[in-house]
Amino acid sequence: MRIINMDHVAASPLLPQVVDAMMPFLTEKFGNPSSMHSLGEEVTETLDEARGKVAALINAKDHEIVFTSGGTESNNWALKGICQASRSRGNHLITSSVEHFSIMHAIKALEKQGVEVTRLPVDKYGIVDPDDVKRAITPRTVLVSVMHANNEIGSIQPIAEIGRIARELSIPFHTDAVATAGVIPVDVEALNADLLSLSANAFYGPLGSGALYVRKGVKIAPLLDGGIQEGGLRAGTENVLGIVGMSKAAEIAAVEMESRIAHLIPLRDRLIKEIPAAIEEVELVGHPTQRLPGNVSVVVRYVEGESMLLFLDMEGIKIASGSACISRSLKVSHVMLAMGIDAGTAQGSLLFTLGKDNADQDVDEVVRILPPVVQKLRDMSPLYKKTSKFKTIT
Ligand code: PMP
Repeated sequence: MRIINMDHVAASPLLPQVVDAMMPFLTEKFGNPSSMHSLGEEVTETLDEARGKVAALINAKDHEIVFTSGGTESNNWALKGICQASRSRGNHLITSSVEHFSIMHAIKALEKQGVEVTRLPVDKYGIVDPDDVKRAITPRTVLVSVMHANNEIGSIQPIAEIGRIARELSIPFHTDAVATAGVIPVDVEALNADLLSLSANAFYGPLGSGALYVRKGVKIAPLLDGGIQEGGLRAGTENVLGIVGMSKAAEIAAVEMESRIAHLIPLRDRLIKEIPAAIEEVELVGHPTQRLPGNVSVVVRYVEGESMLLFLDMEGIKIASGSACISRSLKVSHVMLAMGIDAGTAQGSLLFTLGKDNADQDVDEVVRILPPVVQKLRDMSPLYKKTSKFKTIT
């Protein structure tokens, strides 16, 4: 059976060039960058080059990139590190109600320690109003953190505008750019970002490798205590293999970004048009145009997302329902609830995240296979027969 992966948000395959770049660091180049001898120095030089490549991807300076274990660590560090370093200035954070769990749960932990939090509402597309950010700022605000694009619904936030508001009031601004860095243009200057999280797998680098951009002059306490790696900001021996892979992937993403976007958008738009044309009572979730090039999020009424997902899996089609990170917990997406979608409808979430290797034939297959799957499940659903304005086909 041909496998169609449309779950790139969960995991994307490594580029062959990335594997080639990593290989020597699995074999002869095993040095520890902290060592004083030549084995270590060789690896230190590689890390310096890698920092430059990751910095170039987001228009940062080399020394503003700190390597981490991925988006979760970068997000936790940005929030906790800024709060800790700013205790004398205040204890108020501003965020949105549609953030990833690595922001949401880190903020809950901070709240337990007495930090005050404003969670901004979103409109029906999942987008924050920058004026709400302005209104929420108080003299005690130490950080604004709003994600660049949402991993579940694909909507892209007006980050440059939010960053400008924070900058005017000298408040550090963090954005979780895990869904965008290496995918669409991300420029820390244009976005007015002081801190920015990224994760390598979003752009075909290794899982478990990422970075936090920290603008020069921003005061942040370390998350991990230990050695003096990463300029004393992130203790622990660097994940050399992951960093090398991430930097190669970043280098290639910068070159291929435009063509990848041009390839993804028509496929995305075909699914957005053809799925609701083939199945009754399906709605697009998220903004119709201000969305990630590979993201198609829909709700199919009267069917559970997980059931559709499992049937599609048997047909070789790999997708997600709601957020990849909670898809095993069967929880209703907090993102959809925040957008005003009711819990019942949100249960029917399907998330297609396309990648550079998807093609028109993959879209053809989804549009062929999904409608009978939905019909089969709806025929079993008492809810569908009772509530739907449509008759089931018998
Ligand atoms: N933020 C967003 C928007 C994400 O999509 C993810 C990954 N799903 C993360 C943070 C966490 O990143 P990581 O898996 O690299 O820890």
